Amino acid sequence: MSRSDQEGPPRYLKDREEYFSDEQRKRTTVESRKMEKRVRENLRAQKDRPAVMKYFDDIHTYGGIRVKELKEFRKTGGKVVGTLCVMVPFELINAAGARGVRVSSGYYEPVHPANELLGDAGLCPMVKSTIGAKMVHSDPLAEEIDLLVCPATCDGKLKLAEIYEDWAPVMMMNIPRVKTGDTTSRLWMGEIKFLKQKLEELTGRKIKRKALLNEIGKWNDAQAAWGRLLEYRKSKTPPISGQDMMLIAQASQKDEITRWTKKVKDLEKELKVMVRKGLHAGETGAARIMLAGSPMIYPNFKIPSLVEESGGLIVSDELCSGHRIMSDPVMLDERSMSEMLMALAERYFFPCTCPCFSPNDDRIRRMKESIHLFGVEGVVFHTLRGCHLNNLEATKIEMKLREAEIPMIKLESEYDDGDVEQVRTRIEAFVEMIKTRRAFSVKKEGSS
Ligand code: SF4
Ligand code: SF4
Repeated sequence: MSRSDQEGPPRYLKDREEYFSDEQRKRTTVESRKMEKRVRENLRAQKDRPAVMKYFDDIHTYGGIRVKELKEFRKTGGKVVGTLCVMVPFELINAAGARGVRVSSGYYEPVHPANELLGDAGLCPMVKSTIGAKMVHSDPLAEEIDLLVCPATCDGKLKLAEIYEDWAPVMMMNIPRVKTGDTTSRLWMGEIKFLKQKLEELTGRKIKRKALLNEIGKWNDAQAAWGRLLEYRKSKTPPISGQDMMLIAQASQKDEITRWTKKVKDLEKELKVMVRKGLHAGETGAARIMLAGSPMIYPNFKIPSLVEESGGLIVSDELCSGHRIMSDPVMLDERSMSEMLMALAERYFFPCTCPCFSPNDDRIRRMKESIHLFGVEGVVFHTLRGCHLNNLEATKIEMKLREAEIPMIKLESEYDDGDVEQVRTRIEAFVEMIKTRRAFSVKKEGSS
């Protein structure tokens, strides 16, 4: 299934067993389970949290309902496709009769076995954790995949996909890294067609026009429901936290999409009641924050939880692990197969503001639009250590935001808790600065 269809011995491991023992596997599994539980409990401790959120917690629970459902699905011959990026169209996966799950890892412990194999290698912890979890089989969701689809975006992802082939079939997608020019659309459209063909081979089922149309309809419904939730974040006192919004967005890449949409609609009803009762997320007068930078995959909610524990409320994000998952519906003018494939190709490529593209001025434009729409008072730009692309873009973004008088703080972190107090202090100072600015501008308005 790899692009080269290379069979034969593993390329990165001399001997698979050499690099992990049962004890290492057990430790990684136990620690991952504990971490997920800790993060889930932390989320549940948020004040006035909507009751429907328990459903989304369950979707993410380590070895929980979703893993059981996928196991059952596979027992009946169903195929599960893992993805590592928002650029893989789930509509196509579903139309082939398969199920899609994003298997990028947010667990801290699996970084260690990956370090043993690769040394530090300067890779971001998300890449290392995803490799490590596969090496020691510690992520039950990742153990259920029959194929991994990985767009070759940054260097880390490129090699991650190659290493992953030692354990599972991988299909890499050739991403055009330049967004402009004649060849860009043609190249990406070719990749979408190739994906269609590989999915059909995997499931033994031809993707029919009607099935694809149906799936596009389901995902567009999901996006419309998400769009209505976003409206609540514009309010002066949003009834839902930024952490919960990220949890919901990421659940769409694990769950059955129609069930996810139904639960989002249930949540909408609950939020309406909460607003009537005057209930809201975060503390009164919280600083309105946009989170941007490298993806933060559950349970790696270190940065969002620190922001919201420090007097901030995340009202918007510019993350492929947040709003980006659900933004931009597939626009259909015609309903022929080739038109639908073209519409999917466009939806998953052009609006994407991933830093692996150049030029990427779309990102700044999108950020500015959201800052305006959601009344953002400051941007927390976080990069995972080793994420060079986000790190590089931070400089340009900070400069543009400064021109627009929007303060930004840049943070860099690893996948462990060692830096929590240091990062907390910086975020607290940033939040305080925003509140002081706000008080000062209110005073100025009052005196003018
Ligand atoms: S940062 Fe870019 S490459 Fe990485 S998951 Fe997000 S969209 Fe994909
Ligand atoms: S976080 Fe950055 S370095 Fe890591 S996979 Fe995504 S783009 Fe690549």
